[in-house]
Amino acid sequence: MRLYNTLSRSIEKFKPLNPSLVTLYTCGPTVYDYTHLGHMRKYTMDDVLKRTLIYLGYHVKHVMNITDVGHLTGDDDTGEDKLEKGAKKQQKTVWEVARFYTDFFSKTMKALNITPPDITCRATDHIPQMIKLIQTLEINGHTYQTKEAVYFDVTTFPNYGRLSKQKLTEKLSGVRAEVRVDPQKKHPADFALWFKSVGRFKDHSMHWESPWGDGFPGWHIECSAMSMAYLGESIDIHTGGVDHIGVHHENEIAQSESASGKPFVHYWVHHAFLNVKNEKMSKSKDNFFTIEDVQKKGIDPLSLRLLFMQTHYRQEMNFSWKAAKAANDAFRKLQDTRGGLAAEFKNLATEAPDQTSVPYKTSFQQALANDLQTPKAIATVWEMLKSPLDSAEKLKLLDDFDQVLGLKLKTTKETEIPKKVLQLAKDRQYAKNNNNFALADALRKEIESQGYKIEDTHGVYKIRKK
Ligand SMILES: [Zn+2]
Repeated sequence: MRLYNTLSRSIEKFKPLNPSLVTLYTCGPTVYDYTHLGHMRKYTMDDVLKRTLIYLGYHVKHVMNITDVGHLTGDDDTGEDKLEKGAKKQQKTVWEVARFYTDFFSKTMKALNITPPDITCRATDHIPQMIKLIQTLEINGHTYQTKEAVYFDVTTFPNYGRLSKQKLTEKLSGVRAEVRVDPQKKHPADFALWFKSVGRFKDHSMHWESPWGDGFPGWHIECSAMSMAYLGESIDIHTGGVDHIGVHHENEIAQSESASGKPFVHYWVHHAFLNVKNEKMSKSKDNFFTIEDVQKKGIDPLSLRLLFMQTHYRQEMNFSWKAAKAANDAFRKLQDTRGGLAAEFKNLATEAPDQTSVPYKTSFQQALANDLQTPKAIATVWEMLKSPLDSAEKLKLLDDFDQVLGLKLKTTKETEIPKKVLQLAKDRQYAKNNNNFALADALRKEIESQGYKIEDTHGVYKIRKK
């Protein structure tokens, strides 16, 4: 397996720390609004990554967070808590908002057939772990306190900026003066580990006691604390959107490595955006569609998996309903093909394993193992189905590939072949066996007039819909 690592900006050979168990952390949703197509692309591609690892023989331990506190509208500690904002807008409590959108997220993931993580963890259930991590950072001399918050001092971490390839001096010049909401904050890139329930957060409804006073955790510390709690101080893969490279993930690295003294993540995998009319699909732009919008258009959510896989995960993708409908048609075609193959397979006397299927399997595997070249893997699926391979082999391969595609093709009903056609086929075979070729030919024509085709391979016949 080879994976593009944002840390090195290159495709690297994947070598897990522990060959028998790959540790995977994927940044999860902030549950203050609806899950939209942009998120669906990210989580689908996370799923494809995970399924690929499993397909290639790895065991995977997967952890994902649910952010239900501390994520401010500005990544740089500005603005208000997204959950509080959502609650105000909808006149609900933050807990109600979190519950509602967590459920919506789960529903969306299920519709997309995304394998649930081994552990899904809520930030609000891990406050003690976060406090402990902040204490360790404090002991190690990486923090300072102001009246408003406890900050991570980025100047104490020489590697800061390694992921985004941005020097601290560059960061400094990029930040506007008015962004510094806390006058006691020393460096604009310093980030809050703990917000105190004072000033702009006086009325924050979620708050806990801590050694620094009543308050709530910053967003970045959540991922570090939960990743370390469930997967250990060093993990193999951490994923997220490209928008997290500059701040969120940079901060995760700084605080995790300053606490443990060990590399936090070995492979950083980042997903490109999904755009609508060349603009990023986002909650703030109000140009987003949910799974319900998709279903209302008569599009099977599973077909979105095909749509997303047709673009490489590191490439921006433009969403259009036209493309979604085309993916839906392709998905139906795959379902029909699988149904037809399953029906035919029932009529096959023997399973004829064939060496000719090997190149397709190899090509599919190699495409995925090469930094998840999903467009190539999908192309291989169609090539295989159009090839002269035996039906039994095609069926076997399609089901094998679907372990990664996740299209649930096995649950597709097999195409029903009418009893009359099956009987005609049997009679034709009988005629052939008795060298009555004239009758056999007549029966073949009769089958064709019923809308079916009959083919002979390896001494067995197969019926398929014309
Ligand atoms: Zn995160």
